[in-house]
Amino acid sequence: MAYSGTSVGPGRPGVFVTHPVFREAAFGSHHPLSIGRQAAVLDLCQAMGWLTSDRIHHCQLASREDLLKFHDARYVDALEAACERGVASVDTRQRYNVGTMECPLFDGLWERARASVGGSTRAAEFAADGHVAFHPAGGTHHGRPERASGFCYFNDPVFAIMTLLERGIERVLYLDLDAHHGDGVEDAYSGDGRVMTVSLHEAGRWPYSGETGWDDEKATLNIALPGGVNDSEYDFVLEQSVLPRVERWEAQAAVVECGADALAGDPLSSLQLSNGALWRAVERFVAPVPGAVVLGGGGYNPWTAARLWAGLWARLSGQVIPVGLPGKAEALLAALSCDLVDDEDIVPRWLTAVDDVPNEGAIRPEIDAIVKALG
Ligand SMILES: [Zn+2]
Repeated sequence: MAYSGTSVGPGRPGVFVTHPVFREAAFGSHHPLSIGRQAAVLDLCQAMGWLTSDRIHHCQLASREDLLKFHDARYVDALEAACERGVASVDTRQRYNVGTMECPLFDGLWERARASVGGSTRAAEFAADGHVAFHPAGGTHHGRPERASGFCYFNDPVFAIMTLLERGIERVLYLDLDAHHGDGVEDAYSGDGRVMTVSLHEAGRWPYSGETGWDDEKATLNIALPGGVNDSEYDFVLEQSVLPRVERWEAQAAVVECGADALAGDPLSSLQLSNGALWRAVERFVAPVPGAVVLGGGGYNPWTAARLWAGLWARLSGQVIPVGLPGKAEALLAALSCDLVDDEDIVPRWLTAVDDVPNEGAIRPEIDAIVKALG
């Protein structure tokens, strides 16, 4: 099937997977993720009239037995014990990175972490049945079998891929558009033979892995982009270096991690994409496969993250993004706040429209060099 930028919605109305725990505050009060993104996405979709209750599927929490398919039992038990006590021992902090500044303990963590896995597992079941399933609270791509990493306690994208494979799908594409390298998923599946992993991320950012290169044996493609990347450069790299390899892979299903931190305005990256560039990218990879899981991920600006994911749901489910916003949606965006974004840096359009102004521009020599290096 040919790859195209056309809507993926018609005939596949889409399933929105979530859990009530994602509405609750999380990560305490001094963490980049304490910004209420998931409630904002759900509320914005509903305020825009894009999400009726028949499209929403509430997932189960993953059980201990489920978690042990990827995570180490000692880590799972230590995390549960720390959540129960509300405090992490020195050993738990050092060994498992739980109860640290990076991966703090907070009320609801044990439910939330298991809901991310339960949601991705359920989304993959929908995908195996030919649906596009959107799970914006998923995308914890840094989680390691034996420890928490990079704000991620478990690794829900791994469970989405695992579920597709268990359902008899033999060739899976994992595409990671987050500003940070999808290291946990790549390490879990590179060389597996059934999964191609692709990660486009910003060079020189944590976790500092994912140098530009294609490894044929491992079926792993990494593209480390320079800061300031615009929409034109992103499209160019996708067309020249990603789509041809992905077409050859002939995936039967895709799992896409669509973090919001590659957008202009994100305080933890300096990529400069508009949300339209990411919507187009997701559609190009989701349209040709029979079923797909689309996840959220990083994203530390509540306005850009909520608008990206609400608009992504609209596009995936074949709905039109209007000019302007209903009053309810405007009020919701006006009520968001974020310690990492100064008031004078709030772009007026973040409060008045879902779509960004496209950020088109010249293709810089360093982008040409990436494409040439990949051959
Ligand atoms: Zn990220």
